Amino acid sequence: MSLVDKEITVVGGGIAGLASATALAQRGAAVTVLEQAVELGEVGAGLQISPNGVAVLEALDLREAAAKVANAPDAVVLRDMDSGREVAQLPMGTTAVDRWGRPFWQFHRADLLAVLANGAREAGVDIRLGQPIVSVKNINADVVIAADGIRSNIRTEILDGQPAQFTGQVAWRGIIPADEVRIANAATVYMGPRRHLVTYPIRGRSVVNFVAVEERSEWADEDWNVPDSAENLRHAFSGAGRDVQAILEAVEETFLWGLFNHPYLSEWTKGNVVLVGDACHPMLPFLAQGAVMALEGAWVLARELDKFSIAEGLAAYERICKPRATKVQKTAASNSTAYHLRTGPVRGAAHLGLSAISTIAPTALLGKFDWLYGGDVTRDS
Ligand SMILES: Cc1cc2nc3c(=O)[nH]c(=O)nc-3n(C[C@H](O)[C@H](O)[C@H](O)COP(=O)(O)OP(=O)(O)OC[C@H]3O[C@@H](n4cnc5c(N)ncnc54)[C@H](O)[C@@H]3O)c2cc1C
Repeated sequence: MSLVDKEITVVGGGIAGLASATALAQRGAAVTVLEQAVELGEVGAGLQISPNGVAVLEALDLREAAAKVANAPDAVVLRDMDSGREVAQLPMGTTAVDRWGRPFWQFHRADLLAVLANGAREAGVDIRLGQPIVSVKNINADVVIAADGIRSNIRTEILDGQPAQFTGQVAWRGIIPADEVRIANAATVYMGPRRHLVTYPIRGRSVVNFVAVEERSEWADEDWNVPDSAENLRHAFSGAGRDVQAILEAVEETFLWGLFNHPYLSEWTKGNVVLVGDACHPMLPFLAQGAVMALEGAWVLARELDKFSIAEGLAAYERICKPRATKVQKTAASNSTAYHLRTGPVRGAAHLGLSAISTIAPTALLGKFDWLYGGDVTRDS
């Protein structure tokens, strides 16, 4: 089968929607994207795209455009939140390229979205903004792709969904000017009891992206755009070490969202409607893979639809992507407890163990990511 002359409607113009639209249009489909926002967004601040995601950008012929707005960190550094002491370091930079074949990149989300939107338009995709879709019933297309994100309306419409469960964790995000803090060219994770902070520079290192996670019982909405006061954030991290305090002092604007565990879906398709990205595999942010898995899924979906009949193509996409995405969802969920070890001997011993592995056998730590970062869905047939 071929995608030429197939009409495909994509609901949602985020990472998954724009990447799917581009991949499908490049193979000859007539693709329309319906996005609720009136502008392609600023939402979310920073995004880390590991080498397995860069593989998809490359296959979409967007690597060069993406490289212009990407930052390549030298390392991922784990630090103790209280003392600021380095616990472990994973070299990135050229090490990532040597080990996994491609760089590890960090973006401002708006910059990556702009690259994807340009790629989609160049491939002939019709992107329509200001189109909130409440139901797919009236959409006339050979295939409808639901790329409407973590709180997908369409997932609820086509599948009997179980409600998501609050994890007891909330996260603040935001960006601060880089000249107000001393920051390395690295993704730094400050690990403390019941809380952690991740920082990395983006946009030519002119600003620093942060995500700060706290365990607490008070619920927050699973919406990435709810403003909160910087004072609340500083209060939640009071008592942390000097480096963390200095970073949080520079925060003027921040957003708070609740972290939820979503049940793993038993199916991703219903008839000619298919879910992609967060709509089918929502995950906690502790492995920085939500957008990367959205890119992988988009590529595989287009390739399999191009190879087979629509029903067979959708089934093949689900069969190929679901096991890996589910493993990533589970790994991301288990990481939060690793960062948040309580104070005392357990935490001390765990940090010592990590430190020893990092010093004596740094490749052992990198090796833990081979199954993920070394994957290349564009190479597999
Ligand atoms: C603060 C933060 C940091 C993150 N960091 C990373 C990271 O470092 N690396 C990583 O890989 N992932 C990261 N993620 C996860 C990543 O952002 C998501 O997994 C990714 O955006 C999923 O892409 P998506 O296209 O499925 O959903 P989204 O990006 O949410 O896009 C969904 C789109 O659908 C639109 N939409 C929704 N409902 C409708 C409707 N009814 N009608 C029309 N349009 C609709 C929305 O407006 C939006 O444009 C992070 C997430 C957050 C919140």
